[in-house]
Amino acid sequence: MASLKTVLVTGASKGIGQATADLLAHEGYNVIINFNKSEKEALSLYNKLKNKGLSVRIYKANVSKKNEVKDMIDFCIKEFGTIDILINNAGISQEKLFVDITDEDWDNMINTNLKSVFYCTQEVLKHMISKKRGKIINISSIWGMIGASCEAHYSAAKAGVIGLTKALAKEMGPSNIQINCITPGVIQTGMLDSYNQNELNVLRENTPLMKLGSPKDIANCVLFLVSNRADFITGQVISPNGGFVV
Ligand code: NDP
Repeated sequence: MASLKTVLVTGASKGIGQATADLLAHEGYNVIINFNKSEKEALSLYNKLKNKGLSVRIYKANVSKKNEVKDMIDFCIKEFGTIDILINNAGISQEKLFVDITDEDWDNMINTNLKSVFYCTQEVLKHMISKKRGKIINISSIWGMIGASCEAHYSAAKAGVIGLTKALAKEMGPSNIQINCITPGVIQTGMLDSYNQNELNVLRENTPLMKLGSPKDIANCVLFLVSNRADFITGQVISPNGGFVV
């Protein structure tokens, strides 16, 4: 069977999403770069890839808004005629004592990190089910597996992504759609900006490979999972984390 070709990467303006969009474009995929607030960074990636003659598009959408997600998927179909692969990567984090989390914090966390996965996945499945092919990768976190102190709402959202992945993999298997979850360890992106050097050193020392991960480490894992080499893998949680969680 021919390779799946067209991929939407949510939250591709920075960090893991940016590295994933960059790698997949260089590997010959048609890539749609989604961003929400970071237009400058998204445009810079888009221009870099386009100037190399690679097949890319860019689309601004807040993935926690149903109507914006629908318009984005319509755009993908209009541009490439299909959407074969969805990478649900967009996310936010927040450190807060559980007793201080407000209703607004909670809703923002769940809507951005979990409801967005529901919206994007439901919308792309409309196209994948009829074709009986497709792959979806959900970016969760080790904290969704083991829980993070002072990040209860983040951990809950990411655990929800793992549960959604497993349930949907069972439901979509007969339609030949593979759905897997990546749970990165500590990865050097802007998401770590709230950590001081001391805290980063402690995280590094607690990682058996003695280093933090790079966005490319996660992009490489995505590349494998979306390829034909991973056709028999579905419903799995794969954790590139340097041995931090074993
Ligand atoms: P960054 O903060 O570097 O990037 C986050 C990306 O998500 C940005 O491109 C941002 O786009 C996008 N985003 C946030 N909210 C929305 C929204 N409402 N709509 C569309 N896009 C949005 O973080 P990372 O690259 O580190 O994180 C990527 C994913 O990896 C997240 O899901 C995160 O939880 C997960 N992860 C990260 C780990 C780490 O250590 N870094 C560890 C485990 C998991 P914009 O700026 O344009 O709004």
